[in-house]
Amino acid sequence: MLAQCRRAKTWRPTEAPRTFHQLQATNLTKPPACGSIQHMTDDLLRLTPSGLYCAAGDFYIDPWQPVERAVITHAHADHARPGSQRYLTTPTGAPVLAPRLDPGASIRTLAYGERLTLHDVTLSLHPAGHLLGSAQVRVEHKGEVWVVSGDYKLEPDQTCEPFEPVRCHTFITESTFGLPIYRWQPQAEVFAEINEWWRANQAAGRTSVLYAYALGKAQRLLAGIDPAIGPILVHGAVLPFVQRYRDAGIDQPDVLYANGENARAHRGRALVVAPPSAGGMAGWLRKFGPASQAFASGWMTIRGARRRRAIDRGFVLSDHADWPGLLAAIRATGAARIGVTHGYTGQMVRYLREQGWQAEVIPTRFEGEPDAEIGDAGPADAEERASGEVD
Ligand SMILES: [Zn+2]
Ligand SMILES: [Zn+2]
Repeated sequence: MLAQCRRAKTWRPTEAPRTFHQLQATNLTKPPACGSIQHMTDDLLRLTPSGLYCAAGDFYIDPWQPVERAVITHAHADHARPGSQRYLTTPTGAPVLAPRLDPGASIRTLAYGERLTLHDVTLSLHPAGHLLGSAQVRVEHKGEVWVVSGDYKLEPDQTCEPFEPVRCHTFITESTFGLPIYRWQPQAEVFAEINEWWRANQAAGRTSVLYAYALGKAQRLLAGIDPAIGPILVHGAVLPFVQRYRDAGIDQPDVLYANGENARAHRGRALVVAPPSAGGMAGWLRKFGPASQAFASGWMTIRGARRRRAIDRGFVLSDHADWPGLLAAIRATGAARIGVTHGYTGQMVRYLREQGWQAEVIPTRFEGEPDAEIGDAGPADAEERASGEVD
C-alpha cells in the first residue's frame, strides 16, 4: 500500500456523535486519496466461500453457509441463514431471528454498544435503522477498526432503533439503491398517500391490498398508517412478526388474520397487508372482492417495476438508504477505505473512486429482500429509467 494509505490507517476513530443529524452538522474532512487498491483478502475481514470471515476473532458476519460462529446483522433471509452452531445478534433482533433458524438454534445476544472480546478482537453492534434489532458490526483489532453495515437506512422510523454512524478505517456498505435516481421523500408523505389511497378505495367499495416484505416493512407500514380509517387484515406470513414487534414494545394497530371469513366480513373497507408472493397465488386475492393492489418498495421509483407487477399503485418506501443517504453514511464513518456489497456495487465503487476513496466491490451473496426489494424489478429498470423510457 502507498504511504497515504498507511497514514490513513493510523487515524484514530473518535467518539461518534449520538445521532446522524448531529453528525451531518459536523464538518468531516474528505478522506485521503489512495493510488493503489489493495484487495481485501489478507485483511481483518476477508471473503471466504462461507462468507465474510474475521480470522483474528474466528467468526463470520452473515455467513451464507453453516459455520461455527455467526454474527448476524439482521433477520432478513439473505443475511440470516440456518445451520450454524452459534449465533450472535442484538436482544431485539433475537426474537425475529429465531423463526428464521432451526428450532433450538443457539442465539446469544449483545446489547448495542456493549463490547465483546473474541480472541484478539473487540466486537460491538450498533443500530442500523433497517428493521427491529438490525445492527452494524464494529470489529477492532490492534487499533484498526472495520465496520460492516449490513442493510441500513438513515431516516428514523418508529419500529426500529435509529441508525448510528460509527467511525472506522474501513467501512463495508450495502449499495442496494446505489444510483443517483434513488432519492426518498419523507416517510410521512408516503403514509399520507397510502391513507388517501385506502380512503378512495373505500369510497369506491374496493378492498386495499398492500404488498410489502413480511418482516420489517409490513410492521413499519402498520405503525405508520391511520388505523381509524378501517379494519386491517394481515397475511399469515406477516402476523407472527406483528406479535414479535408488539412483544418488543413497538406500537402496532389491531389486526385480523386475513382468512376467508375475515376477508368476506370486511370486503370493500379493509386494508390488507401481505407479502408480494401472496398476490400471485390463485384464489388468494379473490376472497377480498373488488380490490386495488399496491406495492410499497424503493423499487417503485421505477415505472417499469410497477407495470411488470400489474399493480395499481406503487408507494416508494424503502428500508434501505437512498443515494444521498449512502453517501452521507459513508462520509460519516470517516473511513478511507470502502467495500461495497449488494445491488449497484460497480457504479458505487466507480463513483467513490472518482471522489478519492479507496473502494472496491465485495462479491457477497446478499441480494436485498427477496420477493420485495428486488424481486423481478431490479437493476434492469434503472437502465430503462436512464434511457428515458420511465417517468
Ligand atoms: Zn435486509
Ligand atoms: Zn441485505
